[in-house]
Amino acid sequence: MAYDDTNIFARILRGEIPANTIYEDDYALAFHDINPQAPVHVLVIPKGPYQSMEDFTQSAPADLIAGFFRAVGHVARSLDLAESGYRILANHGPNSHQEVPHLHIHIFGGRPLGPMLVQTETKA
Ligand code: 5GP
Repeated sequence: MAYDDTNIFARILRGEIPANTIYEDDYALAFHDINPQAPVHVLVIPKGPYQSMEDFTQSAPADLIAGFFRAVGHVARSLDLAESGYRILANHGPNSHQEVPHLHIHIFGGRPLGPMLVQTETKA
C-alpha cells in the first residue's frame, strides 16, 4: 500500500497542524502523545514517508535508520527515563491496531509499566 501523505503525522511533520514537540533533528521529530497512556508518553517519528517498521527497515537509507534510533535514545534520556526505565513500542498492521500510518515509536515511562502485553485466553 502506498504511503498516504495526508496522515496526521505527515501533517505534523509539514507543520500544518500543531504538536507538543520536544525534540527535532535531521532525522526525527518527537512530541507528546495527544492521549497519553502513561505519565510519560512520547512519539518519535522519522522524517520520511514510511508507514511502519515494515517499509522503514526495507527501504530507508542507513543514515536515516541510525539517526532515527539515536533520536529515540536521546529523547528517552532527555526525559530522565534512563535510570527509572522505559518501554518502546511500534505497531505495524492490523493485529497491532496501528492507527496512524506513519512509523512512530512510542516511549512510555514515569511509572511501573506492568506486563508486556494484555493477557488473553488464546495463546499463539
Ligand atoms: P498507534 O495505535 O498508531 O500505534 O498509535 C497512534 C498514537 O497517535 C495514539 O497513541 C494516539 O493517541 C496518537 N495520536 C493520534 N492523533 C494524534 C495527534 O493529532 N497528535 C498527537 N500528538 N498524537 C496523536
